[in-house]
Amino acid sequence: MLETTRSRKELGERKVSPVMSKNSSQSLSDQLKPFVAPFRIDGSGEFHLKSHKTNEKGGLDKEKAEKIIEANRKRLSDFQEKLYAQDRWSLLLVFQGMDASGKDSAIKSVFDGVNPQGCEVHSFKQPSSRELDHDFLWRTAIALPERGRIGIFNRSHYEDCLVVRVHPEILAKAKIPPQLVTKNIWSERFEDISAFERHLARNGTVILKFFLNVSKEEQRQRFLDRLEEPAKNWKFSMADIAERALWAKYQAAYQEVIRHTSTKSAPWHVVPADHKWFARVVIGSAIVSALDRLDLKFPDVDKASLQEFKQVRTALLAEAQG
Ligand code: AMP
Ligand code: MG
Repeated sequence: MLETTRSRKELGERKVSPVMSKNSSQSLSDQLKPFVAPFRIDGSGEFHLKSHKTNEKGGLDKEKAEKIIEANRKRLSDFQEKLYAQDRWSLLLVFQGMDASGKDSAIKSVFDGVNPQGCEVHSFKQPSSRELDHDFLWRTAIALPERGRIGIFNRSHYEDCLVVRVHPEILAKAKIPPQLVTKNIWSERFEDISAFERHLARNGTVILKFFLNVSKEEQRQRFLDRLEEPAKNWKFSMADIAERALWAKYQAAYQEVIRHTSTKSAPWHVVPADHKWFARVVIGSAIVSALDRLDLKFPDVDKASLQEFKQVRTALLAEAQG
């Protein structure tokens, strides 16, 4: 089914995708569908986190995956230029997942080679006192991508329904008037997040959300690596062990979030993340498929400007001879 024998050089020159099927009239989204559709949650069905495998490989091996990842990087880089030139749409990518699920390295890998001027990564940590002086959506709202830009959220407003839900003491310390904190707070937050995201979508922000779904065993292995490899020591935090002990609570909180905030205009992708290379195939494929559907083009230059360009060109050429 997959053609993977072409050399990289050939791929670059002929812009042929390694996942191109024999039917070349297939759209990019159709080609990449096997790596996106099974993992995309848009609210149209029931959602059970347990039915999603963490170790899925989508029929690929690492070598085939690398070719797709590389082809997607090139596509992403091309789309980004047009997105920027058009200055109409913006793209918001939300990354969530347990510690060591691979959020940082996936962002690094998928965006490798994309013009940094068109992208901005925001990492959301524990809120500052200034941030706590506002509603929970404020800090993400001020970090949203401008038109023509790609905004990458490494953790996001969803933490306020995840870590905050798992740790009621965080909510207790927040400065929300106590009579507004009721048992309905989570359903209210889901409703507000969905309305916020719908508003953004209606104004030209394409939103894709990724939950890096790693197994508890794979997290154990990755924590061990962090402890054993000096270059990875800095990534290890004792706090991560405390959160690991709350694994089941986090899984339940993630399931709730995905159940209640998956929509057609802001879908979640439950990304199998035990194999980092497969996670990168899914993430890259979802992003380029969404951009492909926008039918991005470089803006046309009007006739008057073209005429002017001609005159300027002639003048510049004359200058060199003078
Ligand atoms: P890291 O992503 O490893 O740098 O860790 C960032 C930490 O900040 C994680 O433990 C998050 O759970 C925490 N964090 C992010 N957003 C919030 C929030 N709204 N409230 C409390 N903790 C948060
Ligand atoms: Mg961490």
